[in-house]
Amino acid sequence: MTGEPPGERGDEETDGEAVTKMQFLFALRSRGVTDKSVLEAMERVDRARFVRGIFSDRAYEDMPLPIACGQTISQPSIVGLMTQALEINPRDKVLEVGTGSGYQAAILSLLARRIYTIDRYRRLVLEARGVFEDLGMHNITAIIGDGSHGLADQAPFDRILLTAAAEDPPGPLLAQLRVGGIMVLPVGQSDQVQSLIRVRRSETGFDYEELRAVRFVPLIEGLGQE
Ligand code: SAM
Repeated sequence: MTGEPPGERGDEETDGEAVTKMQFLFALRSRGVTDKSVLEAMERVDRARFVRGIFSDRAYEDMPLPIACGQTISQPSIVGLMTQALEINPRDKVLEVGTGSGYQAAILSLLARRIYTIDRYRRLVLEARGVFEDLGMHNITAIIGDGSHGLADQAPFDRILLTAAAEDPPGPLLAQLRVGGIMVLPVGQSDQVQSLIRVRRSETGFDYEELRAVRFVPLIEGLGQE
């Protein structure tokens, strides 16, 4: 703080907020998020709406932050890279496993036709539903459940995104991916560096591509306590 009288700080604070958002977008670009529609969606979705409590003033820092139930909202540049890797088309139906705060689903909702997002914690899903409702994001359905089984009654999906790390791509999710579809997920043991991989389904099988090293919370079977 510079010590000016409170009444003289209004304009400066507005400028300060704009700079923070500019820095946020700059950080995304410098870390490889280059897709124009992904950057536009990330500019439009206010991450502060998904970060509660004492961490909300750090929403535009490029870092993961704690949310309820011992979980995290992912680092924005990783959210951007994963979204970009999905190569989403506006007509796509997308499944996200790991709703968490709802931030990733909100970005997907601006890029695709229909989003299903699932989390094993009831509390996280209820909170995320509230934010989607406030923001008028009516193309997102948030579901309480174990996403490692996918969502058979809505399959097949054009795109599937996991935001928790599986040891291997879960069989039910591969089965629920449409031919021509793309799945992006972190794979590997928890507590170790994992690989972000992209899976493309063709008429004849699945092609796997390693994209980069990442670190995510593990995909856990069954429902959470909260
Ligand atoms: N996408 C989130 C966001 O935008 O805030 C971040 C997700 S956080 C890194 C991972 C989430 O995966 C946690 O909320 C956790 O509860 C969830 N999760 C872990 N295993 C799961 C499972 N089997 N089914 C559904 N959700 C699961």
